[in-house]
Amino acid sequence: MEKARVMFPSTPVTNNANVPAARFDVARVRADFPILARRVGKHPLAYLDNAASAQKPDAVVETLARYYRGSHANIHRGVHCLSEEATVAFEKAREQVAAFLNASTPAECVLTRGTTEGINLVAGTWGAANLRPGDEILLTALEHHANIVPWQQVAARTGARIRVVPVAPDGALRLDEYRRLLSARTRMVAVAHASNALGTVNALRETIIPAAHATGALVLVDAAQTAPHLHVDVRALDADFLVFSGHKVFGPTGIGVLYGKLPLLNAMPPYQCGGDMIRAVDFENGTTFRDAPERFEAGTPNIAGTIALGVALDYLRAQWTAGAQAHEEALLRHATARLGAIAGLRILGTAPEKVPVVSFLLEGVHPHDVGTMLDADGIAVRTGHHCAMPLMKALGVGGTIRASFAFYNTLEEVDRLASSLERIQRMF
Ligand code: PMP
Repeated sequence: MEKARVMFPSTPVTNNANVPAARFDVARVRADFPILARRVGKHPLAYLDNAASAQKPDAVVETLARYYRGSHANIHRGVHCLSEEATVAFEKAREQVAAFLNASTPAECVLTRGTTEGINLVAGTWGAANLRPGDEILLTALEHHANIVPWQQVAARTGARIRVVPVAPDGALRLDEYRRLLSARTRMVAVAHASNALGTVNALRETIIPAAHATGALVLVDAAQTAPHLHVDVRALDADFLVFSGHKVFGPTGIGVLYGKLPLLNAMPPYQCGGDMIRAVDFENGTTFRDAPERFEAGTPNIAGTIALGVALDYLRAQWTAGAQAHEEALLRHATARLGAIAGLRILGTAPEKVPVVSFLLEGVHPHDVGTMLDADGIAVRTGHHCAMPLMKALGVGGTIRASFAFYNTLEEVDRLASSLERIQRMF
């Protein structure tokens, strides 16, 4: 179930007093993230670049250190104690991933380097094996480049054609156009659960996935931006493939997940080839491959990163239980209201359902300059095209300034952002 959804405010909120009191204990949570206590120049850090990468709690950092200090060895191949310990911890993490996604079995959870690799894996294996000239891959105008370019490459190799669902001016997908573009030729719908550039949450469960399945198409969900904020339930969504990155869910970099329905994964050719993914290798009789997930996990994996990802996912779920999602909702409402009240500031992306991302432009000031001046105040945001050049083109802008929140951010940090922007605006 996608239980918590961050809603765009219908009633503007103008000050902290109007923000519904969240019971979430932010101060306690911030103590888990020592980096949040550091300073940038003369200012305390306000880290508002979580859509690019989230910070790591001590539990994750300690897991990495403890693993390397005390139990590192290569997995799956050893009879000795350390190898056994590492293998058990690695496979336990796969179970934690499966629980996080509500997958039917851990075997459906392939460990990758991240979202990018997961999409490349599906495009390169499923795409190459299944796409024919005249087939269509349906993408949307708000995809990250990682969910565009791999499909362009496989389309060029197979003769398949890419079609693109446009966005409305508020950053919501044009679902009428989506239904019009879907046809018996559509083999794959590859769609972001939420836009990294605007925060728009797409209606996967209600509309996009059932409509795709009704025409016989498969759906790949890019959940890079929802996994940190929503309960992403692959079975409730009925996603065929779903990908996300460890580093955005408070885990390490270099680790991620590709979920796939087991029959689909087992029908796909291998991705990379080497150790651990084979059943038997023989010069005379050729090589046979294991089933998922090992078929797609050639070579020594990111063992420490996988174990730490399991810890990160459990940590994240514990924050949700403690009320993190309501707090994020309050952050989004407050940021939308405070920034929306600044003259000359235009928010891009005002769709009804959003993850806590506010993308905006400040009239007369280049986004890059705004980002640099915010940094001088200790405030970390991202500026530019956010790896979503087609979306920027559709919105008629070159780039935006993006503030993106996590549960450890505070309403005071939002106020600091707003005050800095007001000062920057007065300067220009
Ligand atoms: N898709 C979306 C929606 C993203 O936000 C990102 C990360 N910015 C990616 C894909 C790529 O993720 P990664 O760089 O972790 O592979």
